[in-house]
Amino acid sequence: MDQIVTGTLMSYVGICDRKIWLAGHAIEGYRDHELLALGRLLAESAYPRERKELALPGMKVDVLRRRPADADEDEALVIGEVKRSPRAQHAQRLQLGYYLLRLREAGLHVRGELRYPEQRRVEPVELTPELEQAVRSAIARVEELLAQPQPPPPVRIAACANCAYFEFCWVSEEPATADSPRRRTRSAASADGKR
Ligand code: SF4
Repeated sequence: MDQIVTGTLMSYVGICDRKIWLAGHAIEGYRDHELLALGRLLAESAYPRERKELALPGMKVDVLRRRPADADEDEALVIGEVKRSPRAQHAQRLQLGYYLLRLREAGLHVRGELRYPEQRRVEPVELTPELEQAVRSAIARVEELLAQPQPPPPVRIAACANCAYFEFCWVSEEPATADSPRRRTRSAASADGKR
């Protein structure tokens, strides 16, 4: 599988093609965006007792835990993605399904969980044939977008208001003031926040 695709890019599929292109070309958003910072804090602080990160090229899993001893030997691990809300759950399932597919291709059969600590909710995710098909279609879509020489034009959607690329896409539309928090930093680091 091509490593140019990442879990973060998969989490934008179906939400904004332009964001996929920008993030995939290492154009960085506004890291200090309040909601992104909140999402990072949540991912770092939730589930402290079982928190173990798993980082491989193109994927960074928030939670890694063992299943009970009576679980099937080849499904003894569970990976979890921590999210603020299930609002974009389809894209979240694509992200987690992408991780499950990558791990399966590496010989690991792993269960997945989408975790919403603010709602005290856990959604199990298995790599069913349907999800695998959706993941493979999303991978193809990401690769197609990244191959384009220019980013798709911005399209105003509800997610723009909380997007790290808001300035990049819409700054000319917003009257700037000297004390606007959106003016403090422009590039900074990654836009890999939790929604
Ligand atoms: S601000 Fe809107 S159009 Fe621009 S990348 Fe974000 S979601 Fe897409």
